[in-house]
Amino acid sequence: MFATARTKLTLLLAALFMLLYVGAAVAVYALMYRMTVEDEDNLLMANAKPLASSVLHSLNHGEFPKAFVNLRQLEQLYPKMSAIVLRDAMGHILADTDAAVAESLKYSYSMSLETTWVPKTHSYVRVLSIHFSNRYGQSVGWLQLALDVDHDIAALNRLRRVLVLVGAAGLLLSLVAGFAASHRALRPIARSWQRQQQFVADASHELRTPLAVIQANLDVVLQHGEQKVSDNLEWLSAIHEEIRRLTRLIGDLLTLARADSGEAAIRREEVNLLPLVRSVADRMSVLAEAKPLSLTVEADPAGDYRVHGDADRLRQLLTILVDNALKYTPSGGRVVISLSRRRRVVRLQVQDSGIGIAKEDQSRIFDRFYRGDRARERGTGGAGLGLAIAQWIVRMHRGRLSVHSEPGSGSVFTVSLRSAV
Ligand code: ADP
Repeated sequence: MFATARTKLTLLLAALFMLLYVGAAVAVYALMYRMTVEDEDNLLMANAKPLASSVLHSLNHGEFPKAFVNLRQLEQLYPKMSAIVLRDAMGHILADTDAAVAESLKYSYSMSLETTWVPKTHSYVRVLSIHFSNRYGQSVGWLQLALDVDHDIAALNRLRRVLVLVGAAGLLLSLVAGFAASHRALRPIARSWQRQQQFVADASHELRTPLAVIQANLDVVLQHGEQKVSDNLEWLSAIHEEIRRLTRLIGDLLTLARADSGEAAIRREEVNLLPLVRSVADRMSVLAEAKPLSLTVEADPAGDYRVHGDADRLRQLLTILVDNALKYTPSGGRVVISLSRRRRVVRLQVQDSGIGIAKEDQSRIFDRFYRGDRARERGTGGAGLGLAIAQWIVRMHRGRLSVHSEPGSGSVFTVSLRSAV
């Protein structure tokens, strides 16, 4: 898919370049042509003026073109002209100063200026043709002046060749550059596409397991259709547990999907972290007691821990960190939630005396669906999305989330946020 997109983008860039180049080249060539030809046309017109008035004079005396054919004299009078030609009413040449040029010239009934190729001399001439008619409107003949423009046309042809060559080289270069540029431009898109694919694959995998467990347990219950509900409590509570897990997983997936699409907005209101921390600790104390382990809050009661942010999201962040600390700390251990403030930064730390995180895992635990080996072994039930969500919440608050951990002796997760005051 990305290969075709890259080819299309490359061709588009090359086509755009060619369009611009051809436009510029045509404009340059046309300008040069006009400038060159204009000088020559002016010269032809200037020379034609006295000649044309002589022809008119002869015509008025009814003697065109007899009185007018002293060619030697014409050649001397108009030395810059490469040929002067007189034609009769039928277009036959009456007189010329250069036969080779004269026979290649075209003529029409209106005055014209054109460039003509003379095969015999292998050169270009610029020709001014003036048609004359008598007072009754009958054609009497033509006067033609030709100027050698070979030098100029050769220069223009050279310019054209150079423009074509530069265009071809530019096209090649734009294809190569376009390919490189499109490759670069598409790389982040391809990466995020792959990440999305991976996300969908992992999510499907995570959804399949609880569904399979529910299915298996329901099969057992259905096989004992004659039994009472209380006889099947073991299977039913397993189903209940899996549904709880599924609901949480779907909630997490939804949060991340909304985060990716930029839909999930973060409110910006003043939040005091101290009551928030206390209320989360209170709620989680049931889990701590069940294990049992100690869960305490350390903060200066007079401290100012106000930040700007979204209270619900900050509560979710703290719940994820405390939930992990409780999950990965064995019975008898301790979990401490502490708040501190240094200048304009409020620091929220969740410290545990749990299993810790291997060095090689520490950079990956914030990735989606990443679970440490120990976490998987213990079957703690998470899908590896908690810290990815926590990371997103902290980023949305323009804060920092870091981890410090020693395997075997515990972990500290630190959230740094800008204080509101
Ligand atoms: P989950 O806990 O659902 O597996 P998380 O994204 O919250 O997913 O955590 C990812 C991994 O980070 C966990 O599987 C675990 O290996 C490790 N981890 C997170 N918090 C802790 C902690 N407090 N102590 C030890 N390991 C942790």
